[in-house]
Amino acid sequence: MDLVTSELAQIHQGAAQIRDGEVSTYLPQLAAADPELFGLAVVSMAGNVYRAGDAAAPFTIQSVSKPFVFALTLAELGLDTVLRNVGAEPSGEAFNAISLEVGTGRPDNPMVNAGAIVTSSLVPGDREEKWGRIRHTLSAFAGRTLEMDEDVCATERAGGDRNRALAYLMRSAGSLVSDADDAVEVYFRQCSLVVDCVDLAVMAATLGNGGVNPCTGVQVVPGLVAEHVLTVMATCGMYDYAGEWMLRVGFPAKSGISGCLTASSPAQLGLGAYSPRLDHRGNAVRPVAAARELSQRFDLHLMHDL
Ligand code: GLU
Repeated sequence: MDLVTSELAQIHQGAAQIRDGEVSTYLPQLAAADPELFGLAVVSMAGNVYRAGDAAAPFTIQSVSKPFVFALTLAELGLDTVLRNVGAEPSGEAFNAISLEVGTGRPDNPMVNAGAIVTSSLVPGDREEKWGRIRHTLSAFAGRTLEMDEDVCATERAGGDRNRALAYLMRSAGSLVSDADDAVEVYFRQCSLVVDCVDLAVMAATLGNGGVNPCTGVQVVPGLVAEHVLTVMATCGMYDYAGEWMLRVGFPAKSGISGCLTASSPAQLGLGAYSPRLDHRGNAVRPVAAARELSQRFDLHLMHDL
C-alpha cells in the first residue's frame, strides 16, 4: 500500500470513531441517509486518486455546487461585474439568512443561498441554457458527466419557498436581474447533482491546480478564476465555522448539507469527504475531523512554516 493510501486509511479509521452530530432533515432523502456512511478521497496534482471507506457512495452535492457555479460566472463575466451583484464578505449569519447589504441590496457572498441564487442567475442564457452550462462546467470540474437526482430536485422545488422568497426579495432590491423563478429552478437543479467523494476531490484539485483538471488535463476555468474562488471559499466556505476552520485546517473548503465537503490545498491536493452527520453549524463532523488530521499529517496549513 502506498504512503498516502495508508495515511488516509488511518485518518478514516480515526474519524470513523466519532458518532456526534445529526443527519440533516432538510429533505426526506437526506434524512434517510445511512449515518454510518463515511468516505474520503484525495487527488494529487499529478491526478493520482487515493480512497478510503465509502468513497464511491453517491450523494447530492448541495451547497458544494456554489463555488463551482461562482467559478463559471467569474469566467463568463469577470470579477468586477459579478461583484456588482454579490459581495465577498463572510456573513456571520445562517446560510439561508434573509439579509442583504444596505444600500446595494447585494447578498453577502456566493457561498450563502442568496448569493448562490444570484451567481446562478448571472450565468448567461435562458433557464435551460444556464442549466446546461452549469451541468457542463461542474462535470468538467469532476472529469465525468454528472447526473441530477430528479426526486431530490422535486423535493427541493416543493419545499423551496424560502429560497424563492430570497430570490424575489433580491429582485426587488435590484441584485437579482434575471427571472426569479428561473434562478431558483437552476439553483435547485445544481444542488441535486449526484457526486461521490472522488468527484469532490477532483473538483477541489482542479481549483488548486490553477483551474486545470489534473485527471483529464482540461483547463476548466482560467487560473485567476480559480484563485478568486479559493479565496472566497477560504473566508466564507464553512458556514459560521469559516474562521476556526482556517485556523485549525488552513486551506479553502466548502461544505454541504448532505454531509459532504470539498477542500483544496493549492498546488498539493484536493480532498472530497462525505458522512451524513452534521454539527450544529451544518458541517459534517467526520469530514471536518478528517480534514484537520490530513492537514496536520501533511503540513497543509497555508500559513505553515512561513
Ligand atoms: N439545497 C440547500 C438549500 O438551498 C443547500 C443548503 C446547503 O447545502 O447548505 O437550502
